[in-house]
Amino acid sequence: MTKLRLILGDQLNHKHSWFSDDVDAVYVLMEVRSETDYTRHHIQKVVSFFAAMRSFAEYLIKNNFRVHYIKLSDSENTQSITGNLEKLATTYNCQVVEYQQPDEFRLDEMMRTWAEESALEVSACSTEHFLTQRDDLKTFFEGKKTYLMESFYRKMRTEYNILMTPNGKPTGEKWNFDHDNRKNFGAKAQLPPIKFFSRNVDDIFQMIRNEGVETIGEIDPKNFIWPVTREESLEMLAWFAENALPLFGTYQDAMHTDNWSLYHSRLSFALNSKILSPLEVVNRCINEWEKQPETISLSQIEGFVRQIIGWREYMRGVYWAHMPEYANLNYFNNHRSLPSWFWTGKTKMNCLKNAIGQSLQHAYAHHIQRLMVTGNFALLAGIDPNEVDEWYLGIYIDAIEWVEITNTRGMSQFADGGIVGTKPYVSSANYIKKMSNYCQGCQYDASLRHGEKACPFNSLYWNFYDQNRDKLSRNPRIGMMYRTWDKMAPEEKTKTLEHAQHLLENKLEDL
Ligand SMILES: Cc1cc2nc3c(=O)[nH]c(=O)nc-3n(C[C@H](O)[C@H](O)[C@H](O)COP(=O)(O)OP(=O)(O)OC[C@H]3O[C@@H](n4cnc5c(N)ncnc54)[C@H](O)[C@@H]3O)c2cc1C
Ligand code: SF4
Repeated sequence: MTKLRLILGDQLNHKHSWFSDDVDAVYVLMEVRSETDYTRHHIQKVVSFFAAMRSFAEYLIKNNFRVHYIKLSDSENTQSITGNLEKLATTYNCQVVEYQQPDEFRLDEMMRTWAEESALEVSACSTEHFLTQRDDLKTFFEGKKTYLMESFYRKMRTEYNILMTPNGKPTGEKWNFDHDNRKNFGAKAQLPPIKFFSRNVDDIFQMIRNEGVETIGEIDPKNFIWPVTREESLEMLAWFAENALPLFGTYQDAMHTDNWSLYHSRLSFALNSKILSPLEVVNRCINEWEKQPETISLSQIEGFVRQIIGWREYMRGVYWAHMPEYANLNYFNNHRSLPSWFWTGKTKMNCLKNAIGQSLQHAYAHHIQRLMVTGNFALLAGIDPNEVDEWYLGIYIDAIEWVEITNTRGMSQFADGGIVGTKPYVSSANYIKKMSNYCQGCQYDASLRHGEKACPFNSLYWNFYDQNRDKLSRNPRIGMMYRTWDKMAPEEKTKTLEHAQHLLENKLEDL
C-alpha cells in the first residue's frame, strides 16, 4: 500500500535512506503559511527555502520518485502541514504517513500530537543529518550546570577520528589553535572576492508578494545570489575550500566595511536545509588541507572543523536538552524594546549601520558581527531576549530555531545564565575598533566614555557590569573587569554611569 512521506523545507537530504529503499511512497513537499508566518522572515530566506524545495522535488522526479508538491498559491493548499497530509491521505488512499523528526521543538510537538490524534498510522524517523543524537549532549554533560563546548568537541574529534593521529592524539599535538587565529586586517586589508550565484527567482518572489506574506529585507529577484541546489551548494563548498579556507581562521573575527562575508564559507543555509551534510563539508575541507598543506595551515582547518563538528552539534544538543524552558530564560531580567533602527539600519553608529545594513541586504552577517556588534549592543542596552530572538530568527538566511535561539539567547545574550557561555560576550568600543575599520567612519568617538560624541558602547559596557555586579562579580573570568572599574576615578565613574542612563532612558531610538 502507498505511503505518504513528508519532507520539510529543511530536510533536503539527498542521501537519506528513504531514497534507497524500495517502498511504494509519495513524497510530499509543501509551502505553507504556517511556516512563512510563524515569524517575519527575510524575503531571501523564504525564497531560498522555496527555491531549494522546488529544486529538490525536481531532483526526486528526475530520479523516478513519485512527488506531490504543494505551492503556496495552490487552491487545494490548506496552509497547514497536517491539514494537507490529511487531505493527501484521502487523495492517494493512504493509511500510513512517515515523517523525519523536525529540528524545531514547535514542529516536533505539532507532529507528535497529530500522530497521536490522527486516525492514520503516523511514524517518525531520523533525518540522518547530524553526527549526534538529540540526547547525546545531555547525557555527556549529565549533572553539569555549564556545558563546556571544548570537552564535547574533543569527544567528537576522537569519536569520528577527525584530525587525529593514529595513536589517538590530536594532529599537531593541540586540540585548539584559536590562539593563532583571530587577527584583524591592519592598515592594508587583504579582502577576498565574494562568490555569487545568479538565479532568476522572480516567479517565487511574485507569488510570495501576491499571497501577502509579510517579510523583511531586500532582494534582487532576477539575480539571486545564494546557492539553493545540491550542485550549487557543492560548488560553493569547493570554492570555499580552495579559496577562502587558507585564511578562514586567521580573519575569522575580523570585520570590514568593504566586504560582507570575508573568508567565511556562507554554507550555513546549505547545511541547515540539509542539502549538504556536516561530514561531507568537513571531509571536503580536510582533503583540500591535505592537498595544499603549504597554503592551508592546521590552524585554519582546525578552526573550521570546530565550528561544524563542535559548535553546530553542540548547539543542537543544548537545544534539545533545554527546550521548551530555554525559550523563556531571561537571566538579567531585561525588558527594553529593540530600537526600531534594527529593522532599517538607520543609526549613526557605523558598526551597527553596517552589520544591520548588510543583514537587510543579504540576509547574512558573519559570526562576530552577530555576536560582538548587534548582539553585544542588545545585551548592553538591556533588550528583552524575546525581541532579540525575534530579530535573529527573522533576518538570517540560516535562522532555524534550534541554532538561532541557542546562539542568541545563550551565547550572545547570556539569558541562560551560563549554560552555553562561561561569561557574557560584551565589549566596549575597543574590541570593535581593533577588529574592524568601522570606527574610522563613525560619528561617535571610540575613545570617549561620556559626552555627546562618546561611543555608546563604552558607557553601556561599564553600566552593564555595574548594574549586574551581584550576578557577575563572583565569576572568575570577569574579576579583572571589576578591578579596573573599581580603580577608576569616582567622578569618571559617575559621569560614565550618568551618560549610560541618559542613553538608555532617552536616546536609544536616536543613536
Ligand atoms: C546571535 C547569533 C545568532 C546566530 N544565529 C544563527 C542561526 O540562526 N543559524 C545558524 O546556522 N547559525 C547562527 N549563528 C552562528 C553563526 O554565526 C553562523 O552559523 C555563521 O555566521 C553562518 O555563516 P557561515 O556559513 O559563513 O559560517 P562560517 O563562519 O563559515 O562557519 C562554518 C559553519 O560552522 C557552523 N557554525 C559556526 N559557528 C556556529 C555556531 N556558533 N553555532 C552553530 N553553528 C556554527 C555553521 O554551520 C557555519 O555554516 C548565530 C550566531 C550568533 C552569535
Ligand atoms: S565608535 Fe562606537 S558606535 Fe562607532 S563604529 Fe566604533 S564601536 Fe561602533
